[in-house]
Amino acid sequence: MKFLRVPCVLCGLLVQARAIDREAFTFTNYNLDVRIEPEQQRLAVRGKIILRNDSTSPQKTLCLQISSTLDWRSIRIEDKPVQFVSQPYTSDIDHTGALSEAIVTLPKDLAPKSAVELEIGYEGIIPLDGTRLTRIGVPEQQARHSDWDQIGKSVTAVRGAGYVAWYPVATESANLSEGNSVFETVARWKAREMQARLKVKLSHSGEGTPAALLCNGEGGGLRSDEQTGGAYLSVNECAFHPLGEAVPLFVIGNYDSLDQPAVNISYLPDHRPVAETYATAAQLVVPFVTEWFSTLKGPAEVKAEVVELSDPEAAPYESGSMLLTPLNGDSKLAQLTAVHQLAHAAFFSPRPWIFEGLAHFAQALYRERESSRPSALDFIGLHRTALAETEKALAEEQTKNAGAGESLIATSIEDFYRSKALYVWWMLRDMVGDDGLKKALAAYRPDEDTTPSYMQHLIESQTKRDLGWFFDDWVYRDRGLPDFRIAAVYPWETSGKAHVVTVTVENLGDAGAEVPLILNMEEGQVTKRLQVMGKSKAIVRIEAASAPQEIVVNDGSVPESDMSNNVYKIEPPVKKN
Ligand SMILES: [Zn+2]
Repeated sequence: MKFLRVPCVLCGLLVQARAIDREAFTFTNYNLDVRIEPEQQRLAVRGKIILRNDSTSPQKTLCLQISSTLDWRSIRIEDKPVQFVSQPYTSDIDHTGALSEAIVTLPKDLAPKSAVELEIGYEGIIPLDGTRLTRIGVPEQQARHSDWDQIGKSVTAVRGAGYVAWYPVATESANLSEGNSVFETVARWKAREMQARLKVKLSHSGEGTPAALLCNGEGGGLRSDEQTGGAYLSVNECAFHPLGEAVPLFVIGNYDSLDQPAVNISYLPDHRPVAETYATAAQLVVPFVTEWFSTLKGPAEVKAEVVELSDPEAAPYESGSMLLTPLNGDSKLAQLTAVHQLAHAAFFSPRPWIFEGLAHFAQALYRERESSRPSALDFIGLHRTALAETEKALAEEQTKNAGAGESLIATSIEDFYRSKALYVWWMLRDMVGDDGLKKALAAYRPDEDTTPSYMQHLIESQTKRDLGWFFDDWVYRDRGLPDFRIAAVYPWETSGKAHVVTVTVENLGDAGAEVPLILNMEEGQVTKRLQVMGKSKAIVRIEAASAPQEIVVNDGSVPESDMSNNVYKIEPPVKKN
C-alpha cells in the first residue's frame, strides 16, 4: 500500500501544477499609483487592475508576477483581502531572471469572458541586475550595458515587460538559453495586451531641484512639483490607451532639453555639445527622410524624442519614435541613427517587419546617398550572419517540429523583423525602383493594413509587377535563404574583342530571388539581373565588349546562406581556328 501512495501524491502535485494557467487572463486595465524614491532605489505601488478570463474554462486561481526584487504587500477583491501565496518563479522575462509571483485564489470561479478587479500593493527596489544574462555566460560588464534598467540615485531608467516587471504581468516561464523562448513569451504577452489601457501616476521625491520625469505614454497634462524645505515631490501622469506595441518605460534625471522642429532631445548635465551634434544631424537628414516617407499620417504624427542614457556604452533602446541612447559626438553615426528615428516618426505601421524594416532600409538608402551602393551593401551585410544563423537554427527546429517556421509577417524574432525585413525592402526596391516604391509607401494607410497581402498589392498596383512569388517566399512563409552558385559558364568569342557568355545560375536554397549577376571583363563590367526560383536554375546570355574574366553572382543585396560559392573564374576561351 505504501508503494502505491507515492505515485498518487505526485499525481496530485501534477494536477495542481497544471491547474495554473498563467496565460488564461488578459490584463485589460491598469490604474497605478507609483511612488519612486531614487535615493533608496525604491518603488512602491498601489492601484487597481482588471483581469479578464480569456481561456475557455472557468478559473479559480490567477497569477500576478512582478520583478523578483519587489514584494507583494496586499491583494484585495471588493474591499476584502484575498488569499494568495507568494513564490519566486524563475523566468528570463525579467532582468533579474526571476519573478515574485502571487497565486491568488479567487472567492469563486470566474467564468470565461468574465472580469475581476483587484486592488493591489507591492514594493521593493529596482537595482541594476544582469543575472539573466550572466547566468548564460554573458560577461558582467556587457550584461550591464544591455540590461541597464535601474532606479538610480542620479539617473533612473526602467523599461517594462521583457525587461523589468514593474507592473504586474502573467506569463509562462521563459528561458534565454532555449532558442527564442523569451522573444516568443514577450510577443504573446504583447499580443494579449494590445488593447489594454494603462494609466500611471508617477511621483518621485528627493532633495534639491526636482528632477525631470519622462515616459513614453501620453502626459495627460498633470505635473506638479511641491517643495517643502530642501525636499521636493514631483507628480506626473503617463497613460497608454491602448498599449499597442508600446513597452511602458520611465526615466528620471536632471535632464535639460533641446527642442528642435524634428526632434526633442533630453540630455544630461554638461552634455549640451553632444545633444547639439545629434540635433544638427537630425535637421540634416530631414529632407532625405521626407523624400521617402513624405506623408505623415495617423499616430505617427509625433515628434521624435531622444533621451540620453548615462552609461556611455549602454545599448540603445527604442519604443516607437522615442529613443533611449548614450550620446556621443560622432556626427555620421548620429545621422544614421536620426534617419532610423525620423523614419519611425514619419511612417507608422502596426506590422514590425514594415515599421522596423523600413527604418533600417532608410538607413541603408541614406548610406547609399551619402557614399555609394557598395557602402550601403556593406551596411546591409552587417545583418547577414545573424540572419543566416537564425534561419539555420529555425530550419533545424523545423525538422524536429513541423510548422516551427517564422513568416516575416507573423514573426516575433528581431533578426527577422529587422535584418530580414531590411533585405526584403532592399530587394523590392532593386526590383521595382525608387519611384514605384515611394508611391506605394505614400499610399500606405496603417488602418487599412488589415490583410497580409495589403503591402504586396500596394506595390504591385504602383509598379505593375507580379510580386506574388517574392512575397510568398520571403514574407508570407519562411523558406530560409537562397544559396546561389554558378553551375556553368560558356564564353564564346564572336568577333574581334566581342564575346558572348552564357551563364547558368543554380539556387540550392528554397527561397527565390532576383539576383544581380556581374561579369568582370578585361575592361569594365556588365551587370544583369536574373530571377532564380528556389531549387532551380536560370540561364542568361551576356554580351561582353572585351575578354570576360570572372562571373560573380550576388553583389550582397540578396541574403544567402553561403556566399563562398558565388565567384567563377573564366579561363581564356579557346580561339576558333
Ligand atoms: Zn526602429
